[in-house]
Amino acid sequence: MLLIECPWCGPRAETEFSCGGEADIARPLDTEKLTDKEWGDYLFMRRNPRGVHREQWMHAQGCRRWFKAQRDTVSYEIQGYETFDRPLAAMDNKEGASK
Ligand SMILES: [Zn+2]
Repeated sequence: MLLIECPWCGPRAETEFSCGGEADIARPLDTEKLTDKEWGDYLFMRRNPRGVHREQWMHAQGCRRWFKAQRDTVSYEIQGYETFDRPLAAMDNKEGASK
């Protein structure tokens, strides 16, 4: 089980969270000028990296707040967390990064 550290509630089981997919996807500013392919790419195309990946998570069964996590997709190690008003913070300890 993955242990995820909510920035507000602390470490909790993965089952309390909902994954929102890849982080940092910016909505295009002028959507009327996009081709169908560009719009489709924005809506559906996501990276699937082997290694470090930035994801959005919501603490669905807790505070219901969104935050970002930087996770290694090979080892499942969570390297740090970020809220929308606080930049990436490295974890204080490794307890929250267990598999
Ligand atoms: Zn929480």
